[in-house]
Amino acid sequence: MARHALYYTLLETLAEPGCAICRMGEKAVIRFLENLVYEGANDAQFRAEALLSRGFCNLHGWQLRDCHGSGLDVAILSRDVVKAWLRRLESFAPEQAPTRAFSDLRAALGMANGNAGARALAEALAPERPCPACKARDTAEQAYIEELLDHCADPEISGGVIRAGGLCLTHFRKVMHTAATAEQAALIAQLQAEALAPLLQTLEDFICKHDYRFQAEMTATEGESWLKALALLSGQRGTR
Ligand SMILES: [Zn+2]
Ligand SMILES: [Zn+2]
Repeated sequence: MARHALYYTLLETLAEPGCAICRMGEKAVIRFLENLVYEGANDAQFRAEALLSRGFCNLHGWQLRDCHGSGLDVAILSRDVVKAWLRRLESFAPEQAPTRAFSDLRAALGMANGNAGARALAEALAPERPCPACKARDTAEQAYIEELLDHCADPEISGGVIRAGGLCLTHFRKVMHTAATAEQAALIAQLQAEALAPLLQTLEDFICKHDYRFQAEMTATEGESWLKALALLSGQRGTR
């Protein structure tokens, strides 16, 4: 995507409430999955990747299920993994149980006493790549984090960050890891503080007004403060 396109998409996303980087990642996943269904999963390179990742993570696997017409793609990708899994099972020969004395010796040395062959099978089946949709999300998020840092002094961007309620904890930390200059880091930290301070106040009011004597005075902003806090600490719903 061209540089200016990233900027305008970021600006648009900052007009929505909640962490903009979560939302950008979420949109990237939707595009990725829709494109997968549109193009079909029969691409050799993609199939090889999906074999190494053992398919999709729980979140994205079920999100793919909800994409209209994804059945054939799920079947093609799953067939590869199931075939490889079955091959491992057919050649699997667990180690014979060690003698009692040998088990005692291993335990005394602080070594695991499970079956080494079974552990090797478990390890061989472990994903060797991240879920392809998680990878698409992480790549998009990083591009938008860099875009945000490049333009954080732009009043439209900085104002947008505050109005959106700041970044979630995961993405604030990623931004701090990525910030190249002291100015960028200081500015993002200041924007985040400006977003957090009013939330903290509404949380205090929400908690205080749970006292039955004040219940009628709860405002809509206070009423939803706990959900904003949840999204801030755990990320936007359904994004990871
Ligand atoms: Zn986020
Ligand atoms: Zn995933």
